[in-house]
Amino acid sequence: MTGSIRLKKNFQCPFCRSYLRIWNNIIFSAKKRKNGEQGLILLHPELGNYSCINHPSFNIEEGEIVDFFCSVCHEDLTADKVHDHIVKIIMLDDEHREFDLYFTKIAGDYTTFVTKEDIIIDEYGEKISDYLKYFSNKFKRNINR
Ligand SMILES: [Zn+2]
Repeated sequence: MTGSIRLKKNFQCPFCRSYLRIWNNIIFSAKKRKNGEQGLILLHPELGNYSCINHPSFNIEEGEIVDFFCSVCHEDLTADKVHDHIVKIIMLDDEHREFDLYFTKIAGDYTTFVTKEDIIIDEYGEKISDYLKYFSNKFKRNINR
């Protein structure tokens, strides 16, 4: 991990540019693919922290696919150019530099990629190798480890 992107980050919807982070939560509207059940999901803004808050009535099981939508404009946040199982939002660091942030829709598959133009500049999670294949033909990998 480069450590260059710290907690003063902001997150935006790529469609309406609304800020999705309030306090220490990135707020999404979500829908389970198997049954269409909808609810809110709060994700932690620290990259690599996969704690997730949701109402007990919107219980998500390991391995379930959950589609993510902007909590403001309700656009589908699927990363169409990468894979149907991946979400894309915009991340702004404390110097207001802009990155694309990708994470998986499959509960329990903790994986995050940060890209700038066509370069993967950071990646987090246990299942990076499973997901790299979706990125490898569109992005170069440039991780300084
Ligand atoms: Zn939006």
